[in-house]
Amino acid sequence: MNNARFGPYFRGVSKWIGKSLPEFPGARELFALGGRTLFWGMSAPRMDVSEMTGWPVTEKEMDFYYKIAEQVMDVSNGYTKGSSFQENILNRLRYNGFPEAADVPTPADLVPTNYGQIHSDVFWSSISALAYGLNRKSFDLAVNARAVEVLVEKGKTAGIKVMSLDKKPYFLKAKTVVLSGNTFETPRLLLHSGIQGRAIGHYLTNHSFLLSTVKVSRKQFPEVLGPMSVMIPQTQSRPYQIQMGGPEGYLWYQRYEQEPLQDELSIGISAFGKVESRFENQVYLDPYKRDEYGVPEIQVQFSYSEKDKAIINQMASALTQVVSAMGASFHTTDSHPPICLMPPGSDYHESVTCRMGDDPSTSATNRYGQIHGVSGLYAADNSILPSIGAANPTLTTVALSVRVADYISNQLK
Ligand SMILES: Cc1cc2nc3c(=O)[nH]c(=O)nc-3n(C[C@H](O)[C@H](O)[C@H](O)COP(=O)(O)OP(=O)(O)OC[C@H]3O[C@@H](n4cnc5c(N)ncnc54)[C@H](O)[C@@H]3O)c2cc1C
Repeated sequence: MNNARFGPYFRGVSKWIGKSLPEFPGARELFALGGRTLFWGMSAPRMDVSEMTGWPVTEKEMDFYYKIAEQVMDVSNGYTKGSSFQENILNRLRYNGFPEAADVPTPADLVPTNYGQIHSDVFWSSISALAYGLNRKSFDLAVNARAVEVLVEKGKTAGIKVMSLDKKPYFLKAKTVVLSGNTFETPRLLLHSGIQGRAIGHYLTNHSFLLSTVKVSRKQFPEVLGPMSVMIPQTQSRPYQIQMGGPEGYLWYQRYEQEPLQDELSIGISAFGKVESRFENQVYLDPYKRDEYGVPEIQVQFSYSEKDKAIINQMASALTQVVSAMGASFHTTDSHPPICLMPPGSDYHESVTCRMGDDPSTSATNRYGQIHGVSGLYAADNSILPSIGAANPTLTTVALSVRVADYISNQLK
């Protein structure tokens, strides 16, 4: 997709929930096979190890599962390899105060298609994972089936109730159920099913999110540019991550379209700030409103702490230094400030509402993703992350989800 198609298409098929969640006004859900990975930006960095202190999973074990996730998702630094634009910007940043500047790890299948081997889906989505699984073992897939309730009998999972689009109910018996509905849907289903747990729905965590567009003169770069995708990662002393991509959004770099030569190249910059995981930030069931399937809608209570706000300010001044280190200048107009603080929810990284942990009073699942006190019931999506630091969350979610699957398959042996 190019830049012009991406925005309207995503907005057309996803559901804006900001109106019903006014404290999280940027939030969008996508009900589709593949979820939001059909539209994601494909930045797949690992979380900084300092973030994992206090996690119920060790750094060594995370490394093991990160490697599996990176292999399954084809994560590499190859997407921008050989691009002079990339090398140029990286060097400028590294020599001007940001030695940790690095390529953004990107999940892209860069192997060309040959006879007998199909490599057609360059960018990874959950659908690629389903195809990967299907190559190993067949499975049944129910589409247009909305999960509406988890069935539990005497502390044991008994199955799940789903409804078809015409609202006909089906009861699927199962001793093991894994919820992967997302950070809003998974706690919603648990709470609606009467599953108790002090932490279910709590600790809602996102990234504070700054956006900028900057311009660099075309004359500074050689004729053949290539795409650029660079990040300045979170470190122990830097509680934010800065990412930049170009020209005009590197994903939709319009190499196959005729474009007049521009005098200036535009680069998009996003900065994600660490947000504390606080009990009071939560999703909960709306006592008054139900959806078309009869399931209560969710509500959200969310605010930034003083610490979160201090990080936002720190991140904004770092952005100014980054832009100067790149030899770029902010693109500003009357309606376009140099740095824009985006509304909560618009980072699409919301997580942690069913976080993993050993203590049922501060976590919804145990260290293997099993809901505390309910055997056979698991969660595996962004909601189980114990915290998210400043890195994009999806690679870590996939790594932890593979670990949940490993645990379940070991239990079944
Ligand atoms: C534009 C955009 C850019 C992004 N860029 C990045 C990025 O660069 N890097 C990054 O790490 N992350 C990025 N993200 C975030 C990333 O997409 C999410 O982290 C990831 O998709 C979350 O996975 P999830 O499984 O928790 O939820 P989702 O991807 O939302 O998947 C939930 C799935 O559950 C299904 N579902 C929900 N409720 C039910 C129900 N009741 N019954 C049946 N099915 C149900 C939905 O249909 C969907 O398929 C981006 C997101 C967007 C929208």
